[in-house]
Amino acid sequence: MRADEKGRRPVGLIVQKYGGSSVADADSVKRVARRIVDTHAAGHDVVVIVSAMGDTTDDLLDLAEQVSPQPAARELDMLLTAGERISMAVLAMAIHDLGAEARSYTGSQAGLITDAAHGAARIIDVTPGRIRDAIADRAIPIVAGFQGVAQDTKDITTLGRGGSDTTAVALAAALGADVCEIYTDVDGVFTADPRMVPKARQLHYVTYEEMLDLAAAGAKVLHLRCVEYARRFDLPIHVRSSFSAREGTFVLSETAIAERIAATPEGDKVEQPIISGTAADTNDAKITVVAVPDKPGEAAAIFTALADAGINIDMIVQNVSAATTGRTDVTFTCPQGMAAKAMAALEAVRADIGFEQLLFDDEIAKISLVGAGMRSHPGVSATFFSALADAGVNVEMISTSEIRISVVTRVSAAAEAVRALHTAFGLDADGEAVVYAGTGR
Ligand code: ASP
Ligand code: MG
Repeated sequence: MRADEKGRRPVGLIVQKYGGSSVADADSVKRVARRIVDTHAAGHDVVVIVSAMGDTTDDLLDLAEQVSPQPAARELDMLLTAGERISMAVLAMAIHDLGAEARSYTGSQAGLITDAAHGAARIIDVTPGRIRDAIADRAIPIVAGFQGVAQDTKDITTLGRGGSDTTAVALAAALGADVCEIYTDVDGVFTADPRMVPKARQLHYVTYEEMLDLAAAGAKVLHLRCVEYARRFDLPIHVRSSFSAREGTFVLSETAIAERIAATPEGDKVEQPIISGTAADTNDAKITVVAVPDKPGEAAAIFTALADAGINIDMIVQNVSAATTGRTDVTFTCPQGMAAKAMAALEAVRADIGFEQLLFDDEIAKISLVGAGMRSHPGVSATFFSALADAGVNVEMISTSEIRISVVTRVSAAAEAVRALHTAFGLDADGEAVVYAGTGR
């Protein structure tokens, strides 16, 4: 960060993103405006990204559904971006009333250029010329999150649910910001969702890798793609609450965390925890392809059909084939929203592949444990499975990465399973975590 004119306080460029629960109503908008103006008055340049107010995006989706069972993707994106436009305009008004200058911009105006994949567009370029001009004028740019404009078609796109985090990080990286602050309704990243585990503990630091695995495991605090983006640009993320002044959680590289810890007075005594957290994801479905002929190429045929249909696969398990039949079952999980499409895609190749039937199950949860320390500490799996066994939780599928263990259980056992793991790995805090609002965004 550079020093201010009088060389006193270090100032910098701070990108702040406010989620829907932080701007849920008129009073919240004014409260957030105050916070932005205070940061600006302290000498910093501030760029703000906003989500739609409260449940606006869900309400707009409901509206679309009432009008049309299968709304055109281009028009649905146009509709949904309206939510963030409302926020940006009212927030700019509230800032004006506090005596500062704010200017609102749509994603397109702010230079967020995407591909044309409506509903799940990827950012391919960021050209924030107008944002830079506003900063140069000491105005506060307010940018609508979760949206951009397609390079080829020039149509308005959205980045997928929760995409405002990604807008914030992408803009922060393009502008060379010192930090991207993500404001939400809890104090930071916790060892578990505090709504499910009241004894969840707040983390001071978490690495990009751990945060990626936590996000992929269903932790709702940050959008997966925003973490990928931040890691690529080594951009510090500070997740914190807009309802309190407390310091939140810093998402950084392993090296940056080690440096920050070493710089504290008790730095040499601090050891990073082995486990950084747990997560539960109840949005997946499980599909079993029954009695697949056990010969080369069958798995390829199944997953090619699914890939062609655009299905994101998460876990995969293949049973040992029955010696008598020479057939095997292949089970995989995918997002519930894609399950119908996945079933249809497989039905279409049933005769070619020669499997017997498809089983569908959406009463499942994926429970995960994440921690960079797993790489170097034996016994994590033993503790993991003993804790679930003691809690009477049955495990249906297992998958692991270097720093994560995930299992599929019945959805009814999810909370119990997460709490058991949280306790078994010594993550329980003494007090209860504070949840300031309801939505987790
Ligand atoms: N408003 C959008 C959503 O609810 C984007 C966001 O909040 O990040 O998904
Ligand atoms: Mg939202």
